[in-house]
Amino acid sequence: IAFVQALTMDGSKDNEAKKEISETERKKMDIEETKRSLPVFPFRDDLIRAIQDHQVLIIEGETGSGKTTQVPQYLYEAGFTKDGKKIGCTQPRRVAAMSVAARVAEEMKVKLGNEVGYSIRFEDCTSERTVLKYMTDGTLHREFLSEPDLASYSVMIIDEAHERTLHTDILFGLVKDISRFRKDLKLLISSATLDAEKFSSFFDDAPIFRIPGRRYPVDLYYTKAPEADYIDACVVSILQIHVTQPLGDVLVFLTGQEEIETCHEILTDRVKRLGSKIKELLILPIYANLPSDMQAKIFEPTPPNARKVILATNIAETSLTIDNIIYVIDPGFAKQNNFNSRTGMETLMVVPISKASANQRAGRAGRVAPGKCFRLYTAWAYQHELEENTVPEIQRINLGNAVLMLKALGINDLLHFDFLDPPPTETLVLALEQLYALGALNHHGELTKMGRRMAEFPVDPMMAKMLLASEKYKCSEEIVSIAAMLSVNGAIFYRPKDKIIHADTARKNFNQNHGDHLSLLNVYNQWAESDYSTQWCYENFIQYRSMKRARDVREQLVNLMQRVEIDIVSGVTESINIRKAITSGYFYHIAKFSKGGHYKTVKHNQTVMIHPNSALFEDLPRWVLYHELVFTTKEFMRQVIEIESKWLLEVAPHYYKAKELEDSTNKKMPKVVGRSGPSDA
Ligand code: ADP
Ligand code: MG
Repeated sequence: IAFVQALTMDGSKDNEAKKEISETERKKMDIEETKRSLPVFPFRDDLIRAIQDHQVLIIEGETGSGKTTQVPQYLYEAGFTKDGKKIGCTQPRRVAAMSVAARVAEEMKVKLGNEVGYSIRFEDCTSERTVLKYMTDGTLHREFLSEPDLASYSVMIIDEAHERTLHTDILFGLVKDISRFRKDLKLLISSATLDAEKFSSFFDDAPIFRIPGRRYPVDLYYTKAPEADYIDACVVSILQIHVTQPLGDVLVFLTGQEEIETCHEILTDRVKRLGSKIKELLILPIYANLPSDMQAKIFEPTPPNARKVILATNIAETSLTIDNIIYVIDPGFAKQNNFNSRTGMETLMVVPISKASANQRAGRAGRVAPGKCFRLYTAWAYQHELEENTVPEIQRINLGNAVLMLKALGINDLLHFDFLDPPPTETLVLALEQLYALGALNHHGELTKMGRRMAEFPVDPMMAKMLLASEKYKCSEEIVSIAAMLSVNGAIFYRPKDKIIHADTARKNFNQNHGDHLSLLNVYNQWAESDYSTQWCYENFIQYRSMKRARDVREQLVNLMQRVEIDIVSGVTESINIRKAITSGYFYHIAKFSKGGHYKTVKHNQTVMIHPNSALFEDLPRWVLYHELVFTTKEFMRQVIEIESKWLLEVAPHYYKAKELEDSTNKKMPKVVGRSGPSDA
């Protein structure tokens, strides 16, 4: 690939203060020394004093300054937990919460889960002894339900505030509110980038504590022409760096697990072919669903005379700091959830990143020494095609879940909730309508008994409704398995490049007539019958780790079902009840077969297609329900079941009118021949 160098990103001015730390020196440094070398360390006492003096403090500092790992420890050492209260620290990402907690436990020489712990959805690794608690922002949001004044905390840190996730944004309003009547609660808002002023004015002009950054210059390179295949371009660039550049680790930003696995395979293959002609290249992936022992590997020091390549999602943009990165490769994309309030549809899609993200990514290369960032797009594209900033999640995703939680907290007037940036009114209204149609709200907009039960589940309202509806349809046993399988957003099916045919055959063997939810149930049940065997997974091209996670999630869902007093019962021999229970939750996601070989969504007439992986891909029933939409080359429905339109009147009488569903026959459409499948779905 031909790159052109553009400019060099400035290192900051206070570079004189730092000493060059050679790699070997770094490795010798023990934990104490490492802690002392972090940019936040010289400010320890000033920071503690500022926190003592002010109830709310905004902390701003470059990624890697030690905000997340050090500040809670400083507070602990300064006695902020003496009264038996905890220090909480939220993270937008699951992996970050786990990994940072593990690191801090190590630094404090305690066992993870004792004094230092973490709590994420479906996994609580804390105990009575826990005083430093890392958690996802979503977890803290839920904690408000059981502890509305956060009484067990003395300090709450809303970390990575610049990420502006939906939960973080809502937490701003909630913690601001309680800080008024809990004067003893210290509130820290910590952020990597330039939003500090905005946070400060939101929190009634709270003071800003700036940790001066240490940044080395980073040379920026752009491609001369746009890259058609950025995965391939990544592989080529990695090898170019490896062959032509001095040692130093490489960080590559990809959009998700599948891309990372593909890139990993291609790269491994090419490296193998180059044989001993090149130095050792260690390839390490990092993404949300990667098991934690594998995640920990990215932090292990690189062996001498070798180079580490980390293939990461944008979790490595600011949430995780990996030392010794000298080269960054940035294809310029990220996966994003987008909600269209006109059509009410939410789609996961790969989108170009913002300039702010691109600069964060480049910055990862200049933390320990001058670095280089290779952007796989043109300088023109950077200037003209990228937005300045990423739009906060609250302004682009479905608010159903957030609204249900706020209602459950007794916050009724959402239009006047204290938002940092308010969501579009139509999105709020749509969420209210959706909750009404699901039976969670009455026509005054108040939470119903059903809504209260739905709020018990840490899942989106549609899934909560499906779980609750399984009571009526006497299939809770099956539905909890299906919900657990759907919640494992990592891949269930394993598809190695050299065994694609075998893997696809194995997958087809699990297929069930009426659709994918039932196929997933089939996978789960067969695995359970095998006594949860690893060998069984291996033989059937199933990812054991994903299944193990599904089993954990299932167990928790079973507990939650007991909390809302639903017995776990089975006994359905026909799948109709199961599909009706699913429809009770997901009646928004219905599409009808139309002329021309594709589907149209019922309410908005949007063209959608069945994903080629689906059991129904060849079948094309007249009415289908989908779990999610994914946009690749087209709008694809993923996880699809066949339904009967008359069920919609039974499960969602407020939402559907008989007229819309006139054609309620259940006969299959003639198979379309010569229909070409999408290329890269
Ligand atoms: P910030 O929150 O300001 O971005 P952090 O506190 O996350 O900074 O990081 C400070 C240092 O701790 C970094 O040098 C980083 O490499 C190190 N670190 C963080 N997590 C881990 C981990 N799991 N293993 C090893 N080092 C880690
Ligand atoms: Mg951090």
